[in-house]
Amino acid sequence: MVSHLDASLESTGHGRVEMVPQVEKAVLLAERTKILTPPSTSKMRELANELKRTGVDVVNFAAGELDGDASNLIKEAAKRAIEDGRNKYTPTVGMKPLREAIAENVSRRCGARYQGDEVAVTAGAKQALYNAAMALFNPGDEVIIPRPYWVTFPAQVEITGAKPVFVDTRGTDYRLTAEGLERAVTTATKAVIINSPNNPTGVVYDRGALLRIAEIALERRFWIIFDECYCELVRPGVSHCNVVQLLDGIQAQTILVNSFSKSHAVTGWRIGYACGPRHVINAMENLQGHTTSNPCSISQYAALAALQNDDGSFMRKVNAVLEERLRLAMHIVDSMKEISCAPAEGAFYLFLNVEKKIGKNYKGQRIDTVDRLTELMLNEARVAVVPGAAFGDPTGLRVSYAIGTRQVEEGLHRMKALFDEIN
Ligand code: PMP
Repeated sequence: MVSHLDASLESTGHGRVEMVPQVEKAVLLAERTKILTPPSTSKMRELANELKRTGVDVVNFAAGELDGDASNLIKEAAKRAIEDGRNKYTPTVGMKPLREAIAENVSRRCGARYQGDEVAVTAGAKQALYNAAMALFNPGDEVIIPRPYWVTFPAQVEITGAKPVFVDTRGTDYRLTAEGLERAVTTATKAVIINSPNNPTGVVYDRGALLRIAEIALERRFWIIFDECYCELVRPGVSHCNVVQLLDGIQAQTILVNSFSKSHAVTGWRIGYACGPRHVINAMENLQGHTTSNPCSISQYAALAALQNDDGSFMRKVNAVLEERLRLAMHIVDSMKEISCAPAEGAFYLFLNVEKKIGKNYKGQRIDTVDRLTELMLNEARVAVVPGAAFGDPTGLRVSYAIGTRQVEEGLHRMKALFDEIN
């Protein structure tokens, strides 16, 4: 029995050591919870939704998903799966026909060659990334992450005990360059995480940039985690390029991560995947087998039908709508004084640089941080955006244009009016 008088030496995390009574110790959270905070992307989205529920007219640019419904094709397939009683466990990393269909689809798309057992189906790309991080990173490893980054990348690296190493891309058109990467590589480098099309910037990496990154990864022997969740969402004149096709040998050092979330507008269904060398996929399978087991069986059957029967018409329609919204949006953004925008080439985000507004005043109130600016935007202009600090950029704002076309225009006009009053 532990008595309340029992005590042990405990690090406070500030270099001091204190006596902590055992009873108290039992209720303490594990150390790792200190690195876990809610993603600020969802915090903003929830704040905006709460205001909306109370009747406030908020334009919510904070969402990270397509606004429209999923295609009938995938919905009907899910209904059929339920009616056919597909309710039981499936193999941990997905049923064989789905793994094979993904392998075939990725091989066709990337010009590389994947087999079904080089695919792990997961509960969304987020789980694929997490499993890959857990399978590959040791405490002390360094993982290079271009900044601005999607919030979850550094959090997952830290959970494994590895260290995120950030490379600021703001001075290089929001793209990681070979020079930037080379400067960050050390003997402890285990991986670089490339996300193209990018969240939050909208940037799409071209062939040349990816080739240089691949050459360095191959020469210095580290992994590329290639997150291409938004690969179907590129604007006209831009094409998505996949790193595995660029260089002999790089496929063996790459984990490809993708998802049905964005390409089929089913974020809530939790279905994504990773492709990579068998030994990594096996390690991911072992982890998944003791954590979540298989991803939702209904989502798996629906995803399989989508891969087998998709004629591309759903995404063509989505992209046409997004293209029109982007055109309208850029018209307004271009008229915003002192505000610039990252190249909006893909996904559905605008990433604004508001550096020139920081340190200035709005109606006598000083705006000292981008967080303060987004608070003002919500309270004064009734516009919700995600502050760049969440993405490691204290001068940026992420605006999703995957909301209604009129909302995009209305929200950006409100933002412009507010910006005009910041001097
Ligand atoms: N990667 C990126 C870059 C994302 O933006 C997201 C979703 N916001 C994910 C992965 C996770 O997607 P999923 O819903 O498939 O878990």
